[in-house]
Amino acid sequence: MHNENQPLIFEISKEGRIGYSLPELDVPEADLSSAIPAGLLREEPAALPEVSELDIMRHYTALSNRNHGIDSGFYPLGSCTMKYNPKINESVARLSGFADIHPLQDESSVQGAMALMHDLQEHLVEITGMDEVTLQSAAGAHGEWTALMMIRAFHESNGDHQRTKVIVPDTAHGTNPASASVAGFDTVTVKSGEDGLVDLDDLRRVAGEDTAALMLTNPNTLGLFEEHILEMAEIIHGVGGKLYYDGANLNAVMSKARPGDMGFDAVHLNLHKTFTGPHGGGGPGSGPVGVKKELVPFLPKPLLVKKEDLYTFDYDRPQAIGRVKPFYGNFGINVRAYSYIRSMGAEGLKLVSEYAVLNANYMMRRLAPYYDTPYEQHCKHEFVLSGRRQKKLGVRTLDIAKRLLDFGFHPPTVYFPLNVEEGMMIEPTETESKETLDAFIDAMIQIAKEVEETPEVVQEAPHTTVVSRLDETKAARKPVLKYVPKEQSEPVAVN
Ligand SMILES: *Cc1c(COP(=O)(O)O)cnc(C)c1O
Repeated sequence: MHNENQPLIFEISKEGRIGYSLPELDVPEADLSSAIPAGLLREEPAALPEVSELDIMRHYTALSNRNHGIDSGFYPLGSCTMKYNPKINESVARLSGFADIHPLQDESSVQGAMALMHDLQEHLVEITGMDEVTLQSAAGAHGEWTALMMIRAFHESNGDHQRTKVIVPDTAHGTNPASASVAGFDTVTVKSGEDGLVDLDDLRRVAGEDTAALMLTNPNTLGLFEEHILEMAEIIHGVGGKLYYDGANLNAVMSKARPGDMGFDAVHLNLHKTFTGPHGGGGPGSGPVGVKKELVPFLPKPLLVKKEDLYTFDYDRPQAIGRVKPFYGNFGINVRAYSYIRSMGAEGLKLVSEYAVLNANYMMRRLAPYYDTPYEQHCKHEFVLSGRRQKKLGVRTLDIAKRLLDFGFHPPTVYFPLNVEEGMMIEPTETESKETLDAFIDAMIQIAKEVEETPEVVQEAPHTTVVSRLDETKAARKPVLKYVPKEQSEPVAVN
């Protein structure tokens, strides 16, 4: 498995070797030049590797063995809720009635799928305390933007054109100011106090006639519950603004507390976090948006409704912000979330939140003697450590994160939130056993000792991975679009 010299797929290519067999062509060959404009046709065939089926299986199996996922190891990446995705959800999503239908099919032939979407919406209404939910938005940030566009349409329908500002706390997830900006708002930052919670005086200072909305995560990105949420809601509603709940991290409060009861007017959920849709690697997500009555007319269209015994899509919604995604959302992820909610039940979801919070507090208290804990109160689903003590000894949080790879763990989120020096944000989730939590804690304790005794071991980590430290941005900034074979000097296009 651990093979330093695994060749590239291009390097194992042998001319003439093939991994497929197709019957001989028994129809006339299509003339592509009549179907595709000449300027778009390739001049030379793509330089694809020529390999057998077995070669390619071994190649990608070897690569996949180097990968880290929930199914292979602990993944406490804060704010990402990397919990185990039960396999029953996969089986349900693969049922032919869900997997083999087409979005252009007539409504009458997909009533089962529509019933599932409708039921899921109702469950999410119940879980969030909202009045209506749309499943259209494709992921968290998209849900944020969708809700902000609705809030904007709401203010405009009242002639409130001066509401151009969205307030976000300094601990907010980066997507919050980004979505606000894409939705055409200016963002204003509200400060957090020493206790990690929004500073109410500062909130009063920044809230005003120009406030469109406050965006808030609760528990916030430090894993702390904003205890003064009802007062915050009063402040924002008092100036005519709306409250938006970033519900990406609902994992701490399910069946315990509802955004709707805290005074929020709109919320998005990340079904690919809390509700076990697999995520990572850029796969599809799902970010349903729930809203209170006043915002319902602005929901994206079409809206799924039940008329007598039939489900149908309602397009006759004159105030809707429009469509935010082709068709009806990422249906497959919605099926998984539905299966998860139904298999857990309300009591099960409550236990999920209790164990998620218990696991995070257990880890925080056991690690507190070895790393600084900037916030003393109990945490919710995640907690933040600071590596500032280790930094004084010349070891950075990045080094600690890399050293964790040698123990087979995915590192926590690091250098976030920005207001914590050398921050590490750890989110164990509820699906991990005490043995796994202990193994991670033991590794963190050993690393803390190494920092004092043999810092170079940490500074030079990782030692056991296939590649050591990578340039973290090069692949995005300089993608490899040409491959230069070893024995040649001319690059070959690979795409
Ligand atoms: C993950 C996350 C988001 C963004 O969700 P995406 O699905 O990645 O767009 C937004 N806010 C918080 C707090 C998150 O943790």
